[in-house]
Amino acid sequence: MDTRIELRLTEIFFSLQGETSRTGLPTVFIRLAGCPLRCGWCDTPYSFTGGETWKIADILDKVASYGTPYVTVTGGEPLAQKHCLVLLEALCDAGYDVSLETSGALDVAGVDPRVSRIMDIKPPASGESDRNHWENLSVLNRNDEIKFVLADREDYEWSLAVMRRDDFPREVPVLFSPVHGKLDARVLAEWMLADKAAARLQIQLHKHLWGEERAR
Ligand code: SF4
Repeated sequence: MDTRIELRLTEIFFSLQGETSRTGLPTVFIRLAGCPLRCGWCDTPYSFTGGETWKIADILDKVASYGTPYVTVTGGEPLAQKHCLVLLEALCDAGYDVSLETSGALDVAGVDPRVSRIMDIKPPASGESDRNHWENLSVLNRNDEIKFVLADREDYEWSLAVMRRDDFPREVPVLFSPVHGKLDARVLAEWMLADKAAARLQIQLHKHLWGEERAR
């Protein structure tokens, strides 16, 4: 592997993982710059443009300096950069527990199988539900997670309908996450209980700890 390969990064930072089954774990986040989507409620628009160029070797050095085994590659849409796959492989080879946060709009089949793919499926209120790459459903496995970010009741019912599709991978854990400031988590919790939804309610821990001024 050529660790001189370069990627464009918005930031690298150390924080508690606020989402997924890894919630609460001290984690290094590598945020890749750029995203081809424009979700209406996006909380990281600062990642759409700009960023600094980093060699993979330098990224590995920086990650190692934090001394934690958990690494999340996020964005933006990290898979929009073709060398993201090389970075993920390099992180796995270095022994890290690696997760990837992706929009679900791009093909995830080429991601190193050691990586846990945290894949969004975009409901209608995102404004991007026609970008869902449905073929991804057939390549996910129990090491991955599917996340629906929900803004309203229509999104919720739409997501339950998606989970009833014949091609939906029932062994993959599902997360329901309310859009901060749009859907009350308690309301979503009541809906999920009423329907016995086969999903886990996810509240973005980092926003509860630190608020919007430090949304990570
Ligand atoms: S895919 Fe993610 S980064 Fe891109 S616009 Fe949607 S929420 Fe924002």
